[in-house]
Formats: sequence, structure tokens, C-alpha cells
Amino acid sequence: MDKITTIFENNKIWAKKVLDTDPQFFHKMSQVQNPEILWIGCADSRVPANQIINLPAGEVFVHRNIANVIVHTDLNALSVIQYAVDVLKVKHIIVCGHYGCGGIKASMVESSNGLIDNWLGHIKDVARFHENELHKISDFNTRFARLCELNVVEQVNNIKNTTIVKNALKNNQELEIHAFIYDIKDGIIRDLNNLPE
Ligand SMILES: [Zn+2]
Repeated sequence: MDKITTIFENNKIWAKKVLDTDPQFFHKMSQVQNPEILWIGCADSRVPANQIINLPAGEVFVHRNIANVIVHTDLNALSVIQYAVDVLKVKHIIVCGHYGCGGIKASMVESSNGLIDNWLGHIKDVARFHENELHKISDFNTRFARLCELNVVEQVNNIKNTTIVKNALKNNQELEIHAFIYDIKDGIIRDLNNLPE
């Protein structure tokens, strides 16, 4: 069976399994979506949003791009945030980066990857903001892991600086913004604001 045929087969199996558990599931889904979480993550195939937090369809509004970057001029990302915050009234925005991120790694080495280098420039900016700290880390992999973490923190700062989030908080809308990192080596998500010593 080729990959595309497998997709249709798997989809039928999944839909049946969902219906077996909750016969009204798709009917409810067809009426409205009411997610409480906006997930902003990396496009990496190893970090599928719903799967790693074990939440079903309908629970998470998702935006993914290479290295989970939020740029103030990115109309796509801003539209997602605006819809999630203003219309869906999500209560949590989660930026979840991951260790071993190919986008972060590519930004650390002097090689040419074409168009994507322009996107990775945003991560180079993050590295420049934290130059003092990063320069002290001589081991490449440790520095790489730290940049994966710092990138999440900076993207959270970017989100907090959007007019969308600023206005929501000014209006006392219930909204928390989280900086998480996922480890592809053990499947565990950690809160960057609450890392063990
Ligand atoms: Zn990545």
C-alpha cells in the first residue's frame, strides 16, 4: 500500500475509533470549536501538537512553522493569534520549542540553505541578544540546546508585545502565555519558567 492510500485507510480507522468512544463526537465538532489552547510549535514532524499533549481534535488551535518563530510582520502568525485570542478566547498560548531543532541548528552554522536563511535570520537575532551567555558555552551541543530554549523565551516576548495580547491583557481577558520545550529524546515537555535546578 502506498503512503497516500495508507492515509485514507488510517483516517477511516481513526474516525471509527472516535465514534466507538463517542458517537456524537463529529456532530459536536461540526457545530463549533472551543479550544482553550493556542499552540505555537515547530513544523518538525517529530513534534505533533495534539499527539504529544494527548488531546483530541477540537482542543488545540495550532500554528506551526520552522523553529516556532513569531515575527511582528508575519500576517499569517498574527492572524492566528488574533483569531485565537479575540474570537476563540483561548486561555493559554503555548510556545513549545524542542531540543534538536534543525532550524535552530542551521542558524548556528555558516552554510547556505537558500530562502530559509532569511527566516533563520530571526534566530540569529535571538543568538545576538544572548551573545554574552551563549559565548560562554564552549560545547556546541550545550550551546545549541540553550539557543533552543532562548528562542522560545524570545518568541514569548514577541507574542507579549503584539497589540493583540497587550489589548487582551489590558481588558483583563484571562490569558496566560507559556514557554515550553519538548525533548525529542524522552518525549517530555518542560516548562522553561519552572525548570528543575
Ligand atoms: Zn524544530
